[in-house]
Amino acid sequence: MAINTIERAKFVARREQIDAQRFAQTTGMNRAIQHTVLQRNNRWHPPIIQPDLAYGRSFCMMETMKAIVFKEHGGVDKLIYTDIPTPKPGPREVLVRVRACALNHLDIWVRQGMPGVRIPMPHVLGCDTAGVVEKTGQKVLIAPGISCGQCGYCKDGWDSLCDQYKIMGFQVNGGYAEFAVCPAQNIIPISDRWTFEEWAAAPLVSLTAWHMLMTRATLQAGETVLVHAAGSGVGTAAIQLAKWRGARVITTTSGAEKIAFAKSLGADEVIDYTKEDFSKVVRHLTAGKGVDVVLEHIGPETWEKSLASLAKKGRLVTCGATSGPTVTMDLRFLFVRQLSVLGCYMGGRKELNEVLKLVQAGKIKPVVDKVYPLAEAAAAQQRMLDRKNFGKIILKI
Ligand SMILES: [Zn+2]
Repeated sequence: MAINTIERAKFVARREQIDAQRFAQTTGMNRAIQHTVLQRNNRWHPPIIQPDLAYGRSFCMMETMKAIVFKEHGGVDKLIYTDIPTPKPGPREVLVRVRACALNHLDIWVRQGMPGVRIPMPHVLGCDTAGVVEKTGQKVLIAPGISCGQCGYCKDGWDSLCDQYKIMGFQVNGGYAEFAVCPAQNIIPISDRWTFEEWAAAPLVSLTAWHMLMTRATLQAGETVLVHAAGSGVGTAAIQLAKWRGARVITTTSGAEKIAFAKSLGADEVIDYTKEDFSKVVRHLTAGKGVDVVLEHIGPETWEKSLASLAKKGRLVTCGATSGPTVTMDLRFLFVRQLSVLGCYMGGRKELNEVLKLVQAGKIKPVVDKVYPLAEAAAAQQRMLDRKNFGKIILKI
């Protein structure tokens, strides 16, 4: 190539860079978008401006988006607010503009890392996403569980046992971002009954509570249930669900404010576990009989006393281990009293549809604790770790 041709090419490239910078500055694009424009093959093309009816302003169909990611496992300091490529939907997938994403305890486990579980990096957390389908403007939730829909487990409604089962934000990227992609069958249209933040608070914990109480423990009207941690997401859903079922609800929490919240959700009795031995109080409240069902998700901190709180033939359902993974129990107590210990993990799509009908009808109200901007996801997770929340912590995007 002749030298003057090279110089000419350099001149054109420089001029285009300057044009791009001017365009970016005059249109007020943020730095991330400017960067994308400048980096695109080192050649400048005017970005496509489209009206965004939802926001009532113009925006750029850009290749990057804001997201919270982590690139290695560890503490909340590993959560980085940055720009990453906007996900591109595949043939049977949908692009959702995220408006709200709820935190779940699973987010903490995934960030910290679990033995034998490989997470794709960099990773975007977030199981519970509410937003708008980018193409149609439809308001939707993203169902958190992804399964094949074909195998025996899926057909029997046990989606979470499917070999291909994945949870949004766990094995695949989730909703801590401006956009999320999901399979088309995971899209659930939602009404204006609740805000995006409230809708985002509902799916995972309501589904889990339904699977635990209705499917696994087969809770009956007139039975008594002990729900641990009234202020947790699953606790708030379980209290309301058990009351809807016609059961008597005893729950645990700490502090006058949270006790009042728990009662406002319908709990019949609330035990301050920091002041009283909950298993003794349960015995007292049930005239020595014990409860029919214990909803466990704490682990070693409460396990033995949870079993001790059960009536004969009682059922303990568990879906979590926030105080650690290993427990001990006296087997003689288990078999002599003929107790059942039932493991629970998410639930099926049919169960989700059932419980969301109750949410739509206002029988189960989404409980929002605090809303944070996306950039403050680390502070939001710390609030959950400090057990300060009553209800769901939400990221607003
Ligand atoms: Zn399957």
